[in-house]
Amino acid sequence: MITITYNGTYSKITEAADFANQLLHSQELYDAIKANAFTHTAYTPHAVAAAIQNCHKTLLIRTYRPKWVFSKANAYVTLAQPLTIFLNSRKLWRSCGSIVNTLVHECVHIADYGDDPHGQINFGHGDNSYSSAKDSSAPYWIGKWAETHLQQLVDGTEDEEIAERDFNPELADK
Ligand SMILES: [Zn+2]
Repeated sequence: MITITYNGTYSKITEAADFANQLLHSQELYDAIKANAFTHTAYTPHAVAAAIQNCHKTLLIRTYRPKWVFSKANAYVTLAQPLTIFLNSRKLWRSCGSIVNTLVHECVHIADYGDDPHGQINFGHGDNSYSSAKDSSAPYWIGKWAETHLQQLVDGTEDEEIAERDFNPELADK
């Protein structure tokens, strides 16, 4: 399975990477993928799930600042550095869930063509022009699933018993 690491100072990225790793290492993710059907691919949902689950790579997040301040790009991966996710640091004002979505989306690309010297895309999403079918492509759908599932997992409660149970003295402010 894929593990994402981050050594930088943006705490929001550390948080998003922790959440993304929990989801990438959970069977629920792969069960959800298997139960879906994707556009932009000849792969079966089972084959997509297997490709991601059998990708054993440790990826590093590096931030970058695009020259164009309104760059719409959230992140990218490149065959030249197949173990790196480049994350746009101008868009860290997004919700943590949205950043998790981006990280998982990029992991799907890495699992697809990250170790292929020819960079052949087997379950991508086509070019960058908009079409509603892209929402059902593997990278977009799986990224969105991670964002939605995370939201359900952490949906808030003011129940102090739960807070106390989950409290970890090691991680509390002194
Ligand atoms: Zn993409």
